[in-house]
Amino acid sequence: MDARDQRIVGYDIWHLSLPVVSARDHGVGRVDGACEVVVLRLTAEGGEAGWGEASPWVVFTGSPEATFAALDRYIRPHVVGRRISERPAIMRDADRAVAHCTEAKAALESALLDLEGRVTGQPVHALLGGKCRDQIPLSVSIANPDFAQDVALLQRLQDDGVGIVKLKTGFRDHAFDLMRLEVLARDFPQIRVRVDYNQGLEPESALDQVRDVAGFAPEFIEQPVRAPLFDLMAEIRQAIDVPLLADESVFGPEDMARAVREGISDGVSVKIMKSGGLTRGQQVARMAEQSGLTAYGGDMFEAGLAHLAGAHMIAATPQITLGCEFYQARYYLTEDILETPFPCDGGAVQVPDAPGLGIRPDLDKLDFYSIARGQAA
Ligand SMILES: [Mg+2]
Repeated sequence: MDARDQRIVGYDIWHLSLPVVSARDHGVGRVDGACEVVVLRLTAEGGEAGWGEASPWVVFTGSPEATFAALDRYIRPHVVGRRISERPAIMRDADRAVAHCTEAKAALESALLDLEGRVTGQPVHALLGGKCRDQIPLSVSIANPDFAQDVALLQRLQDDGVGIVKLKTGFRDHAFDLMRLEVLARDFPQIRVRVDYNQGLEPESALDQVRDVAGFAPEFIEQPVRAPLFDLMAEIRQAIDVPLLADESVFGPEDMARAVREGISDGVSVKIMKSGGLTRGQQVARMAEQSGLTAYGGDMFEAGLAHLAGAHMIAATPQITLGCEFYQARYYLTEDILETPFPCDGGAVQVPDAPGLGIRPDLDKLDFYSIARGQAA
């Protein structure tokens, strides 16, 4: 029998609270103390397991409670008892079973792909069309309200060979943003700088502030204003020489089509937690390239399991050329949940080639950080 004919018989969920090393401010909100993720395990009748992580952020994509309910109550009946080979149909049924909850759908597709890869002996990137890169350049975000701590982080990044940072702006005042850009240019001239407002600017003053920041010639400026303000995004794009990136304005392919039509950006941040899965993330990136836009591999406040899914997706998506930001497992969580460290060295994520996602979560860590469990299948 084809290994993919096995039925899925186990469906387990962990809601985790993962301590973090510092506060981080973004234009749209603060993370402090801990971040919460939801982990899904699918078990096949032969005993093999596939894993996925949902990494919601309540001010951006949705809440961990909604993610948990989506997986536990609404998606579970469409998965248990189905064959591994039914992945596309399962994803379609999950999409129809519950609106939004894109993080839950990303976790589901990750777990289905991990399981299929493990029973067939293939890495997930092979199931997504094949690997086009072995390494993905890593960007680390600078977002600490205490900039002195970020200067220490910048020294560490430099020592680790990380060559790209993304400065999070628009959460305090304009002078604070300009001061940090000056320090980066003066003290860390070899580090490439990108800027991300996370929707933090008010419409009346956005254009003037973005113009000042563009004067520092960052590689791109991301999402200066609220997600629905497509007209203002298009206006800002026309007014500056630096490429403008859309993040919160573009979740899935439907948003991408509108963004292209309305000319709101020169590039897009692709995240499996926004698109609702790996294959839909690939679709966003392809649409971007067809319209002459660049694509970046963004993420949420994720643990290493979600980073792995994103890394396999980017490895199999030639259109995502601007690197990735899978830094939290190494630089932000007090402790990651994987059995072995998420592979990033020398300023790049190393794409795993072992079957499935390549690394499993550590069950003891899941139990230790768990604040709720899904019912047994
Ligand atoms: Mg962003």
